[in-house]
Amino acid sequence: MELSPSFLQEFNEIYSEISTRKAIFRNLRTLKEMTEDAVYWVEGSIIGVETEKEFCYLACRVCGKQVEEIDDKKRCLSCGEFTFRKLYRYNIEVIVADESDSAKMILWNRSSEKLIGEVAEDIIGLYGDTARTMPDEIAAKMLGKEGLFEVVVSSEHLHANGFNVSRLTIDNEIKDVYLTRNYPVAYEEDDSSLHDDQDAESTTKDVAAEIEAETSHTAKRQKVEGTVS
Ligand SMILES: [Zn+2]
Repeated sequence: MELSPSFLQEFNEIYSEISTRKAIFRNLRTLKEMTEDAVYWVEGSIIGVETEKEFCYLACRVCGKQVEEIDDKKRCLSCGEFTFRKLYRYNIEVIVADESDSAKMILWNRSSEKLIGEVAEDIIGLYGDTARTMPDEIAAKMLGKEGLFEVVVSSEHLHANGFNVSRLTIDNEIKDVYLTRNYPVAYEEDDSSLHDDQDAESTTKDVAAEIEAETSHTAKRQKVEGTVS
């Protein structure tokens, strides 16, 4: 994959957070016990990919939210913009496992691109946009991949339907930093060095703004499918 400036910027951010121990790591079991708004990192591997649901959606090029179809025109209900060119973005459910547990996670566009190695537009171009369930070959590319997942725990976005992954790195250089520093997985609630709440809170806000556009799509989809009662 080509290295875009945004990729390099993200790489530097993740590298910096992990090498300076700003990142808070959890295993999946303890992650599920978290109730306060914060951002945590989990090391795990993908053991399952949801292939029955749509794996991408048509997004507004202006605000990134899902585009509605009205009178044959693609109109964004969020920003009011009419978009005349399709822009597909990934939205994929996966099961991630570590030694402690497994959990459903929601991957958004950038994280999915890293795992698949291609943008959603190209996959749709290859397989057509009528059946948007995931081709087996694409699921196979994701299965077994290991990475460090940055997960948002938010009281607003309950994770019963899956944890939102705000960032993912599968980069070996960053994973090496994580492994060589031998991060302790945080079990103890009273270990203040692992609970810099000030930091966690400000990161949560940044990430919340970043994924807000994409999570609104999930909420909409869940409503349609009636999975939220
Ligand atoms: Zn829009």
